[in-house]
Amino acid sequence: MNNATLIKEIKHLKKDRKAIILAHYYQPPEVQDIADVVGDSYKLSVTASQTDAKTIVFCGVHFMAETAKILSPEKTVLLPAADAGCPMADTITHEQLKTYKQENPERKVICYVNSTASVKALSDVCVTSSNFERVIDHFKNDPLLYVPDKNLGSYVRRAYNLDMEVWPGFCCIHNNLTLKDVDAMRKAYPDAALIVHPEAPLSVIDEADYVGGTSGLINFAKESNHAHYIVGTEKGLLHQMKKEAPDKRFTVLSEDLKCRNMKKTDLQTVYEALRDNTHEIEVEESIMKDAKKAIDLMMELSRQ
Ligand code: SF4
Repeated sequence: MNNATLIKEIKHLKKDRKAIILAHYYQPPEVQDIADVVGDSYKLSVTASQTDAKTIVFCGVHFMAETAKILSPEKTVLLPAADAGCPMADTITHEQLKTYKQENPERKVICYVNSTASVKALSDVCVTSSNFERVIDHFKNDPLLYVPDKNLGSYVRRAYNLDMEVWPGFCCIHNNLTLKDVDAMRKAYPDAALIVHPEAPLSVIDEADYVGGTSGLINFAKESNHAHYIVGTEKGLLHQMKKEAPDKRFTVLSEDLKCRNMKKTDLQTVYEALRDNTHEIEVEESIMKDAKKAIDLMMELSRQ
């Protein structure tokens, strides 16, 4: 089937199945364009918790679909690309965190939403790159452990002067950014603003004109006066940036900013998931209950 036919079929099946399609900003442009909601992890979590659709087709990676299932256990959650994982989430296991907690019972665990449900279940609260300020503010006087991203963790620890240990995980896409990339782009585009996701190394973050999660990067580009932005995050975000700020110019900081797992979803896999009800996400009951507490607290603190 060509793309036009696939889009027609997806729309038809979606109506038939009373489904909603959620897509992360890092998804391929054609997938973002057929989604009902495109957003960051936090926005998609909130949508998943509020939708009255019977089926959620989650165009993203495994931990995101798991979060949707935890927030909407009565709904069918489908992940079109069955093997779309997140290498960052896999840098910590349930057993490793359990051992750490036994050895460090005084530390509260703050868990980046980019983690498995079983790691969330052992955590006190979840956090995303768009709401960490509010969540951290609540815990700033406690001894903490942040899992699993060492870059975002180090950035937050320094910004708030926290007593916080940081798990040595990282996103293999953002962590590869270097000062060499920054120097090359600054030379090529001296008038452009450099905006960077906090999953990048601190050395790169320190060169940025603005640091923020995906929604923050879009909002900054829309609201600030620069005409051109060098963007230090996964290149899928540029599709939404160009839509929301069509009069501005965007250039990705490095052509390597492409997440292989995020690009496993395409129109064909979305169509097949809806047609065959395949790749349904299941989360064990006890894990679901404990993980939900950490996600619910994040949402509560984000609303305050
Ligand atoms: S961009 Fe990084 S953190 Fe996001 S899904 Fe890909 S590997 Fe995981």
